[in-house]
Amino acid sequence: MPRVLMLYTGGTVGMQPSPQGYVPSAGLAERLAAHLALDDSYRLPTFDVIEMQPLMDSAELMPAAWNRLVALLESHWAHYDAFVVLHGTDTMAYSAAALSFMLGALNKPVIFTGSQIPLGEPRSDALNNVVSALQLAVHPATPCEVSLAFHDRLLRGNRARKVRTQGLDAFDSPNFPWLAELGISLRFPQPSALLSGIPNFAPITVDDEAVAVLPLYPGMSLRRAKALLADESLKGLVLYSYGVGNPPSFAGELLDALKAANERGVALLNVTQCAQGEVVQGAYATGAALNQAGVIAGGDITLEAALAKLNVLLGRGLSGLALRHCLKSAVRGECRHTDQ
Ligand code: ASP
Repeated sequence: MPRVLMLYTGGTVGMQPSPQGYVPSAGLAERLAAHLALDDSYRLPTFDVIEMQPLMDSAELMPAAWNRLVALLESHWAHYDAFVVLHGTDTMAYSAAALSFMLGALNKPVIFTGSQIPLGEPRSDALNNVVSALQLAVHPATPCEVSLAFHDRLLRGNRARKVRTQGLDAFDSPNFPWLAELGISLRFPQPSALLSGIPNFAPITVDDEAVAVLPLYPGMSLRRAKALLADESLKGLVLYSYGVGNPPSFAGELLDALKAANERGVALLNVTQCAQGEVVQGAYATGAALNQAGVIAGGDITLEAALAKLNVLLGRGLSGLALRHCLKSAVRGECRHTDQ
């Protein structure tokens, strides 16, 4: 009989009302068991629940929490067949991406899920999402990778984004097909192409000063952008650019600042602000100039995956050419590159 371990980190799925609004609340295992017992038609795998301490709204989860999650997975890996991570929706895509990069190749599925409405509230999506994740966890066609199950779809973890604040179909992977669709039966359109293997449970070194995002927008301050690029503690930057990867030129000054940062060894990754599609840095002169400045085209990577990837690669001590090489290519199916 397959056994699943559920790790509850906090988030709406197990929250309860308080005078201050919804707050994370212990005892999810008992509440879940009570809800599942209402209807004995659920044919679910045996599962245990571990609650992380302290339970947190996912807005509070920082990279140190990724290390705690990976350590928990490591200590239970041998004893279970699959893992479900119950997580707040706000930063679920970041954590799923981070764990995909930290763990690398997997020989068991790790499925993130949560809900938009807490378990037990009217119209809650919690039970459907948790039951779906449990069924997927033990389904033979479910890929051994970090994925995210939400509202009847299974998404690659490092391709997923929270795309709706209110809708129950809160997650999608705009640049990648769903791994599975859950209708009357579970449908897996194509097998995962990711290699399976033994996970890497090593923690990353957390450095909250190392990674930043520079969003480009009309009216942005060149002075502030230059100050960020000149920051000595910066090691990796996501350039959050327009369309296919275009920046404003500021008469060449932004480019000079990018070039200087690149020469200092800062990894510069160009990610589009568009909800769908990829960066093609050679398409316009403004974008092509970025190639000369050493900016790496991020292809169709999401902002969430780009930030997680930079944090994990830097946290594993990568720098220079090795870092550039990993950023230019897909390490766990997180992107497709059209130019290098
Ligand atoms: N603020 C909550 C969280 O991310 C939202 C949710 O879980 O849906 O923890």
